Amino acid sequence: MYNLFDPLYWLFAIPGLLLGIWAQIKLSSAYGKYSQVPVESGMTGAEAAREILDRAGLNNVPVGEIPGHLTDHYDPTKRALFLSSDIFHGRTVAAVGVAAHESGHALQHQAAYGLFKVRMALVPVTQFASTAYMGILLLGAFLHLMKIALPIIIALFAVITLFQLVTLPVEYDASRRAKEQLFRLGLVHEQERAGVSKVLDAAALTYVAALVSSLLTLLYYIARNSRR
Ligand SMILES: [Zn+2]
Repeated sequence: MYNLFDPLYWLFAIPGLLLGIWAQIKLSSAYGKYSQVPVESGMTGAEAAREILDRAGLNNVPVGEIPGHLTDHYDPTKRALFLSSDIFHGRTVAAVGVAAHESGHALQHQAAYGLFKVRMALVPVTQFASTAYMGILLLGAFLHLMKIALPIIIALFAVITLFQLVTLPVEYDASRRAKEQLFRLGLVHEQERAGVSKVLDAAALTYVAALVSSLLTLLYYIARNSRR
């Protein structure tokens, strides 16, 4: 792609790429370690999620199993929790931690947490912006119309960056709610707290990396636009 031949692009892209790789390594190592540590309660991720949801009165939110690795998510449109097989069946500190985090998103939805609603509203807008961004970037490069394309690219990429900016506090808040419930309901014991925190903090770091990477790419387009 045309950006890839611009040295200025790499100047902006490399810090984000390095941070992303570092975050992935930290997550793999934290997850690798704590997915080997059995949780004392003997609960599976699915059971822990069920308990957190039921105790919050969310008996109508189902907990389903989905394929893949770390594909776990809460779907606000279906009002359902989806856990990957490792997390669903896992009786480990990592499995219970991740399952509780996803339950945290359901709790945000129930509490009508402001930023969660903003993030939900931004999903379709961001999907459109991502597709349009790629299209305009390709078109601008092919037709040598970057002068016209750049301001549009900046506007579209600003939407993508805004989405990641809103995602970050939503993720931290879900982890905070997760830990609160795990400890309050006694699903993890005192000595397991640090492990849960390490897994969830490492997962949150990947969102920090994604945001930094997006911000730098946005700055790159702004620098290009003002340079011409
Ligand atoms: Zn999350």
